[in-house]
Amino acid sequence: MQLIEKLSILADAAKYDASCASSGAPKRSSEGKAGLGSTDGMGICHSYTPDGRCVSLLKVLLTNFCLYDCQYCVNRRSSDVPRARFSPEEVVTLTLDFYRRNCVSGLFLSSGIIRSSDYTMEQLV
Ligand code: SF4
Repeated sequence: MQLIEKLSILADAAKYDASCASSGAPKRSSEGKAGLGSTDGMGICHSYTPDGRCVSLLKVLLTNFCLYDCQYCVNRRSSDVPRARFSPEEVVTLTLDFYRRNCVSGLFLSSGIIRSSDYTMEQLV
């Protein structure tokens, strides 16, 4: 799978992660949209530093494969979605490339659980 295809899948899969201070997405209402949790912002999110600066972060998952089947999660094992997995080197390359082009100041990285939570965390670190 090409890197751009992985980026498309794994940025889209990360957009439901609500941990960002601001995704720049419009108000989240499911009325007239695709359902609960419907959102359309993906790829770059925004967060705030302690001194109040707004910074842009590349927001992706390391992988949307997952051992678990949490019913609320689009990336659950039983979900019929396209799957992809970055290598740690691919995440580093992508992040530095976007950083050098002044598109982002950092990385928001999360992941589905592969093999074990310890193994996944090792890959993330
Ligand atoms: S453990 Fe897997 S299925 Fe559960 S919330 Fe995390 S990514 Fe989704």
